[in-house]
Amino acid sequence: KGSGPTQSDLLRARMRLSLQERLWDFYQHDVDIPAEEQAVARKAALDICAELRVFLHAKLPDMPLREMYLSGSLYDDLQVVTADHAQLMVPLILEKNLWSSIPGEDTIMNVPGFWLVRRENLEYFPRNSSYWDRCMVGGYLSPKSVLEVFDKLVGTINWPAIGSVLDYVIRPVVPSETLTLEVQYETDRKLSVDFLPLLVMEDGTSLIAKPHRLAAERHENLWRQSFRVAETARLRALDQEDGGYRCACLKVAKAVCKLNPALNRLNASQLTNAILLLSEKQANWTHEALADNFLQLVKALVGYLEAGRLPCALSPRVNLFCELTEQEVDELGYTLYCALSEPELLLVT
Ligand code: GDP
Repeated sequence: KGSGPTQSDLLRARMRLSLQERLWDFYQHDVDIPAEEQAVARKAALDICAELRVFLHAKLPDMPLREMYLSGSLYDDLQVVTADHAQLMVPLILEKNLWSSIPGEDTIMNVPGFWLVRRENLEYFPRNSSYWDRCMVGGYLSPKSVLEVFDKLVGTINWPAIGSVLDYVIRPVVPSETLTLEVQYETDRKLSVDFLPLLVMEDGTSLIAKPHRLAAERHENLWRQSFRVAETARLRALDQEDGGYRCACLKVAKAVCKLNPALNRLNASQLTNAILLLSEKQANWTHEALADNFLQLVKALVGYLEAGRLPCALSPRVNLFCELTEQEVDELGYTLYCALSEPELLLVT
């Protein structure tokens, strides 16, 4: 690059910057994904979604589904670092009179945030009155069994043929705990698309077929309540009210957790909720307050980890740390605690 500043000059210059400047620099160069890259990734996911719709309509016209759609951070401008994943939502249609949902806290498992979906009226509407009875286990709709239905289906699709039409390389990822397609849409760009079967109950509760992480056998029938749509909307609305940088702060935090192996276990939902809770105490979310708020966030997370409990802002009984092991809680807490004195160390690139 000619006689410009050397790498080490740049490095030294960067070290002199304040945390605020460092964070903003990190945000612009490492966190935020160029619009073009996002657009290409979205298009690849959309092409595949369209193919799958055609395939499912043709092959299984009587499977009661609403239209599949794509969702996730890639569609909310909340994805960070690389545009590399999306969720394909597959909404199942359940007959209202045949299925009911039972909150996890009312079951012997006592896990708020998870639900059982029970088959009702079997005496009047015997087995196979509902299409989804084939996924019934012990009287409950089994998310695992639902996933298996789609897993089998995906196995029967001729992906190389579809891929060559679309000019992508598509392959199902095996083994995978979720059902995932890997799409290579450019030589050096890959996208993973997760199938996420979804139930929308009568009261609007969204349940997804994503197993409890510490799934002992007795957890196997549990559906996970999803707060993603509501929590993301609330965060965005708060930013819109005051022109705040909460979403930017979230993206920085997500990138930090994505790039630091020791923090991989923290996910978007936990970080979003920690920021929502912080917003209840902290009024100033201007650009200038980004570093302050980022540090406050780290501090708050350390506190929640110490307590072993991060309440969901939309449903405080739900503990968003309930799927972490004690050891993971300790390690996360330790890493973040150390970062409080040297937060720059988190901004690895
Ligand atoms: P990111 O993947 O960290 O960028 O975060 P997202 O906000 O895109 O969240 C995706 C994760 O949330 C995945 O692990 C999903 O399984 C999970 N999830 C829970 N509920 C939903 C939902 O309603 N839509 C999507 N797309 N993902 C959800």
